[in-house]
Amino acid sequence: MAECIFCKIAAGALPAQVVQWDTGLVAIEDRNPQAPTHLLVMPVEHHANLHDVAVDDPALMARLMELAAKLGRERGGDKGFRLVVNTGRDGGQTVDHVHVHVLAGRRMDWPPG
Ligand code: AMP
Ligand code: ZN
Repeated sequence: MAECIFCKIAAGALPAQVVQWDTGLVAIEDRNPQAPTHLLVMPVEHHANLHDVAVDDPALMARLMELAAKLGRERGGDKGFRLVVNTGRDGGQTVDHVHVHVLAGRRMDWPPG
């Protein structure tokens, strides 16, 4: 996807604060953090949203969630963390390349604002 910013980041064509590479996955720092830890975990391959990756490559979706949970545990310690996957316009998704927000380091409100 030539115009997708997360494809460009995953290809190394746009700079980002990379936290971890895993096979076919990359985790970066969100540029507008909403918590002391705010990472975005995404596949290198373009899938528009969680629904698409669930249908097209459920094994990749599982690995995506596995890495997000691992980083949440590492960054949130035993106090916990939150994973968020905004999906579609009404879900608040602004970048149409599936990504998991990993939020940790403070007490999260529920319901979210
Ligand atoms: P969403 O609204 O779930 O699609 O989230 C998109 C997220 O990507 C937002 O939290 C943005 O702050 C973040 N973001 C957008 N562009 C970049 C970028 N170039 N580097 C890091 N984070 C970004
Ligand atoms: Zn993309």
